[in-house]
Amino acid sequence: MTVRVRFAPSPTGYLHVGNARAALYNFLYARGRDGVFILRGDDTDRARSNDEFRRDILDGLGWLGLDWDEGIEHGGPHEPYYQSRRFDRYREVAAALAAAGSAYHCFATEEQLEAFRAEARAAGRTPAYDGRFRVSDDEARRRLDAGEAAPIRFAVPRPAATTFRDLVREEVTFDHDQVDDFVILRSDGSPTYHLASAVDDVDFEISHVVRGEDLLSSTPKHILIAAAMGAGAPTYAHLPLLMGPDGRKLSKRHGDTSLRAYRLGGYLPEAVVNYLALLGWSPGDDVTIVSMDEMISGFDLADVNKNPAVFDVEKLEWMNGVYIRSLDDDEFVRRARPVVEAHVGRPLTGEEAARLDMMAPHLKERTRLLAEVPGQVGFLLGDVDHDERSWNSVMTKPEAGVAVAAANRVLEGLESWDVDAIEAALRSMLEAEGLSARKGLQPVRVAVTGSSVSPPLFESLEALGREVSLARLAVALDRLDD
Ligand code: GLU
Repeated sequence: MTVRVRFAPSPTGYLHVGNARAALYNFLYARGRDGVFILRGDDTDRARSNDEFRRDILDGLGWLGLDWDEGIEHGGPHEPYYQSRRFDRYREVAAALAAAGSAYHCFATEEQLEAFRAEARAAGRTPAYDGRFRVSDDEARRRLDAGEAAPIRFAVPRPAATTFRDLVREEVTFDHDQVDDFVILRSDGSPTYHLASAVDDVDFEISHVVRGEDLLSSTPKHILIAAAMGAGAPTYAHLPLLMGPDGRKLSKRHGDTSLRAYRLGGYLPEAVVNYLALLGWSPGDDVTIVSMDEMISGFDLADVNKNPAVFDVEKLEWMNGVYIRSLDDDEFVRRARPVVEAHVGRPLTGEEAARLDMMAPHLKERTRLLAEVPGQVGFLLGDVDHDERSWNSVMTKPEAGVAVAAANRVLEGLESWDVDAIEAALRSMLEAEGLSARKGLQPVRVAVTGSSVSPPLFESLEALGREVSLARLAVALDRLDD
């Protein structure tokens, strides 16, 4: 049997990290089994769906590198893959189910249904609507012919239960006492999620439905619809919910929950993929850094943990740092440069780009997020701005002027401007002036980089070049003299 899986996001919000994890698991499962990964557009809610969210989903999947084989923006044998374009098909199935008696037009009034639910709650029963107000087929036909509009509900068999083997949750049973005679087609002719999703899973020949555990209670409904259509139901795998480090359901208070925030916030997609993969799955042996190829060959839905998974932004940030340090210098620059250019709002000059190249090995070591790089390299671009806090804490010390003047002198005399020569000159200056590295070099750092915190000083001086470095020392001396 060919594995055919689908990721079915609704474009009613930015792609959530939990949904991104579901997309990844679908992708890994398909790629490891010569399967087909399908992207379906669950856009039946026309009022809440929009192009910005549609774009965000596509951009997010593209950024993570989760390419799909069939589906929206791609096509395939079951086109269209947008639910909003399949309403005729859903109506056709709803009508066929009604004709076969698996579903019926419902004429119950809101008041009747509300009274029924209130009574059930008062008696301590689940208020699952059991179809008690269903009218005879003749009456239904007469009222429809007279122009009355009515939703179509699925006639859930009772007493009965639906049992299925979930690849993550193992055997799951829902007694039909807990399951409403649920609406499949609203009176305005629009399908509900249950109908659209179950029909698509059948029509698109989906073998495995891999989705969040929040949809577990929908599954008996989908299985009932598939059976009424005369089809077998797919195998299900419901993924554990995400929670924050405090054990509560993941929400904004734990940090950003949209993938977009990480995509735009200086994370590397491979780090995010790695982190998402570990939310419910592990390659074993406490391994935390896993390549995409290793994930594809090692991932199995049967190994997904059913306990909630903790989404911890700090851990993700740590992992991102690991990935950044593992980039080679050129690759680091290739990723960091656009972030720097976006920050300054212009392309770097050749000279600035060369400085960035030189500093790459040192920047990499101290970067967790690419978004930090513009702040670290600001002094390599354009003029230096002295950070006032750094200036006030370092340059007001009595030795500051001495150190900057002496540094200026020894550096001016250097024959070759390279990191070893610079370091040797400054260390001999410290000795000659009787200054500790801290007292003697911090003023030089503030003069040249503008800040008391910067990448390594000698390398920074080398990258800046003789002329710019000396000019900055001179500017600082002037300011100290004032
Ligand atoms: N469109 C649904 C959602 O975004 C998922 C549907 C499904 O996977 O069955 O929650």
